[in-house]
Amino acid sequence: MYARWAATTAVITSTQNRLLGSRRTLLPWQQRCIAGGSADRPLEEDVQARVRALIEAGVLPRDTSKTLWVGKGSGAICPVCQQPITADAYEFDLGDVLLHRDCHRAWQREVRAG
Ligand SMILES: [Zn+2]
Repeated sequence: MYARWAATTAVITSTQNRLLGSRRTLLPWQQRCIAGGSADRPLEEDVQARVRALIEAGVLPRDTSKTLWVGKGSGAICPVCQQPITADAYEFDLGDVLLHRDCHRAWQREVRAG
């Protein structure tokens, strides 16, 4: 009986470790946010690095002159922070992609910095 319990516990522990491992890979900033700040928002330098990567990948435009629409969040996933833009937030429409206000600001900063 005890052996079975121990085996089950071992499986659970290894599953939890695997889950933690894949979370760390997918969402590296969440680990670093635990020490301070809120866990579901990435650190500013991580956002900036991700915005840069998305611009280079062609996901985000390089110029801020594109027609911009702002509306109530529709639940779309913001490509910068990968969180849904909920109805209590504004979404910034860049034509092909929707961003949170803060993520949009980070994108503007990045484009202006060149
Ligand atoms: Zn966002």
